[in-house]
Amino acid sequence: MASPFAALGLLPAIVRATLDEQYSEPTPVQREVIPAAVTGRDVLACAQTGTGKTAAFVLPILHQLASGPRTQGLRVLILTPTRELAAQIAERVAAYGRYLRFRHAVIYGGVSQFRQETALQQRPELLIATPGRLLDLMNQGIVKLDQVAHFVLDEADRMLDMGFIHDVRRVIAALPKQRQTLFFSATVPRPIETLAATLLVDPVRVSVTPKITTAEGVEQSVVFVTKDQKSSLLEQMLAKTEVERAIVFTRTKHGADRLSRRLERVGIDAPAIHGNKSQNARERALAGFRSGKTRVLVATDIAARGIDVDGVSHVFNFDLPNVPESYVHRIGRTGRAGATGRAISFCDREERPLLGDIERLLKRRLPVLDVPLLASSEPADTARPGGAFVDRPAPQHAPSRAGDSGQRHTPRQGEHAPRHAPARAAGAAPGRNDGASTRSEDFARPRDGAPPRGGKLPWWRRPRPARRGGGTPQN
Ligand code: AMP
Repeated sequence: MASPFAALGLLPAIVRATLDEQYSEPTPVQREVIPAAVTGRDVLACAQTGTGKTAAFVLPILHQLASGPRTQGLRVLILTPTRELAAQIAERVAAYGRYLRFRHAVIYGGVSQFRQETALQQRPELLIATPGRLLDLMNQGIVKLDQVAHFVLDEADRMLDMGFIHDVRRVIAALPKQRQTLFFSATVPRPIETLAATLLVDPVRVSVTPKITTAEGVEQSVVFVTKDQKSSLLEQMLAKTEVERAIVFTRTKHGADRLSRRLERVGIDAPAIHGNKSQNARERALAGFRSGKTRVLVATDIAARGIDVDGVSHVFNFDLPNVPESYVHRIGRTGRAGATGRAISFCDREERPLLGDIERLLKRRLPVLDVPLLASSEPADTARPGGAFVDRPAPQHAPSRAGDSGQRHTPRQGEHAPRHAPARAAGAAPGRNDGASTRSEDFARPRDGAPPRGGKLPWWRRPRPARRGGGTPQN
């Protein structure tokens, strides 16, 4: 029987390499991208690491190189944000191109330029590079892009988050206008959409965010809070002994720093990682988290993508993500390798539409967690908005105790507001640091019943956290 890769229009030498790799069928992103890309079309693909995206861009490019006239010089540029990704893409290029006679070189920062220069002297047809080192070499006249006919921008959103976007634009300015562009990004926030619009001509759009809605073994819930209740509630929750290792997600880098400082002030060591942090700071934070020295990590979405740490018992969505798919990526940090985990999302009034988007993606409503809310200037805002989830009628929720407590326990003057008394820092018993309720198991179980557990799904349908590319920016 012919290989399904042959049916995508690939040359036999490339199909043979996929057979060597024991790929029995293309992944969804490959199925959609390859037939368009082999014909030279531009592509905008929304796909995260782990979906088979590398083969989705490497295979059709190799096909085009091998089908066209043999020309000298650099024909392909693959731009990727980290050293690790660059090395891994290079390794894939070698594997998929093993029956073709093309040369490739890989260049990234943080190491001596010498060997990379030597590799470039071999006149490779393909170059895999991180933006900073590539610009250096371009400025020195060592790399010329004027013959590039196929350009891949990999992990565009991460480039943006790591502050590489200006370098990326400079590189793009040096590319010939006549070229094929394959644009890959796990998420497509507005600046990425704008960049894509300037780069791509009549692109084929592909989105393969896993359809799967819940990570197996992750118990999810939402807490309705006001903005100013979030930090205190988080402190309270982090104080629980069941929280062995937690990642707290914020929407912005600034928000991550602010929260990290606040937690540290109350005795919870919680370093932040995001694109503005130096390589050293990121590595230090991750090493501490991995080793168990620090129990809590505050992270932005994209910075967290490379985190591959087992034993994360809790994911807290301090802010809901703008892009609902990010929710699935975030909660995939816990409940890994058969373990169970908890994902608790804080949702304030302004975030209601975001919750609606998430629930639409999940095709279910998140159970509402019944927590004793801390003192706040505003009453808790616990009524679930009717329109948040449109596919099913809203279930009847019991009146929220959280809401009650938010109103009844507004601290009087002089009363000790729990936000100043984080239980762990103060050595208080779990659940006791809150004037509103004494039930420590209050956030032990969501009210809407047991979490769904997905059946066994093919690997590319599972929301798989990035195993790779967790490296540091190379610029
Ligand atoms: P990527 O998303 O490119 O990081 O790929 C993730 C992993 O999937 C890599 O280890 C690939 O070797 C593997 N892979 C890519 N395509 C396929 C396929 N069609 N079948 C099985 N594994 C694949």
